[in-house]
Amino acid sequence: MTDGNLRYVGVDLGGTKILALVVTDDGEVLARLKQQTDLAGDVSIANQIAAAIDGVVAEADLEAADIAGIGVAIPGTVDSRTGYIITVPNLQIDDLRMVDTLRDRFGLPVALGNDVNLGTLAECWQGAARGADSAVGIFVGTGIGGGVVIDGRIRAGAEDMAGEIGHLCLMVDGPVCGCGNLGCFEALASRTAMERDIRAGIAAGRESTITHYEKAGRLKSGALASALDDGDELVTEVMTRAAHYLAMGVLTIRHLLNPELIIFGGGVIEACSDFLIPLIEQDVAADNMKGSRDALRIVISELADDAVALGAAGLVRAEVTGVPLGRPLDESDEEAPLAYPNIDSVDFGVVVVDGAEIARDIQIRADGKLRNRKKKRLRKLYGTSHVIDGKEVARACKGNPDKLFIGQGFQGMIRLTDDAREYLEALAIACELLPSPDAAEAYNEAEGSKALILHVTC
Ligand SMILES: [Zn+2]
Repeated sequence: MTDGNLRYVGVDLGGTKILALVVTDDGEVLARLKQQTDLAGDVSIANQIAAAIDGVVAEADLEAADIAGIGVAIPGTVDSRTGYIITVPNLQIDDLRMVDTLRDRFGLPVALGNDVNLGTLAECWQGAARGADSAVGIFVGTGIGGGVVIDGRIRAGAEDMAGEIGHLCLMVDGPVCGCGNLGCFEALASRTAMERDIRAGIAAGRESTITHYEKAGRLKSGALASALDDGDELVTEVMTRAAHYLAMGVLTIRHLLNPELIIFGGGVIEACSDFLIPLIEQDVAADNMKGSRDALRIVISELADDAVALGAAGLVRAEVTGVPLGRPLDESDEEAPLAYPNIDSVDFGVVVVDGAEIARDIQIRADGKLRNRKKKRLRKLYGTSHVIDGKEVARACKGNPDKLFIGQGFQGMIRLTDDAREYLEALAIACELLPSPDAAEAYNEAEGSKALILHVTC
């Protein structure tokens, strides 16, 4: 079952459309089919999904027998043990045991999951959080949805209720939330909250250009972006405040879970990330409790409309193979030597790694992962980034390589601190300091486990 040629179907069930994908083992999309969700007609939702599956399989020139499993994402809560639907707040679904219906109909493994969780899972598999061991998704739209992925798996909690970060209380006695509670995250920072505050400002006599962009009586994400472009004072003020709450949400998640990454997505982020993300990063970096740790990495979702359906395919793939996403399918692969990135060239200010130009200093860690050097921390501590200290060496050498190569720039600018030397000695890691082009070459040619810290720009 792990020949690398399995095909999966992933379905994203929404209130207005059903999106179905045929996806390979590696997450490549082979076929895509979108149809309207018919809420008024006689055809059950399960049968509409079945029709979409038939359609997309035909679109891929395959038959049901070629498919290894079907994943379906729904906008609600699913019992992760049985696959039965618990609630779907905004859709009338008569068949809560749809998982059985689809299994009988296709004779295939079927897995159901929550759409936001699966969107987060897909970002970890194929998107902005690719390669991360842990990530939390924050999706800002009409509400705020969240998903938690740890070790390549969705963490849904004991009652499948985890990840409901939209309802973290961030303001006691704050504005009322759709859930009935006061001061929830989404009552402070969703598009609905932004619209409420903007309308209140206008009602109080403030001027705003945003009413020009109103569509069908609604302020969509595009309207917010246009008003920001206009330099609209009211909208800027409301969204700056929302950004502070989004940052509070990020910090709350960090205190609780300390994920490797936070993924921001959803309509508001897609339209207004240029404005919101720098404000959020500023607040996160200013957190008093950060200690000596580096700032949490914040990324923007990359998969757009395919994310949820792709995550659904990933869910059933993990179920069929028993291997979490992002892990090698074949166990023997885990013993195979790591595939280290190749340094194609090194020049002043730019290094090319596996064909990709990077205009920053980099690390290639012992586990083969490519990372940026964290120079802000070094400048703060030493007044220069021309220093490699014990902490940086430890980061690069996580997993204890045989050899560490250090590219000192073009004039041998970089020096090692004493604690860095002590670290390397204690773990018997051989270290070579060379001009950056030579260090890259030596690294490329070295056999066995290795790591690289490369200085190309100040
Ligand atoms: Zn709430």
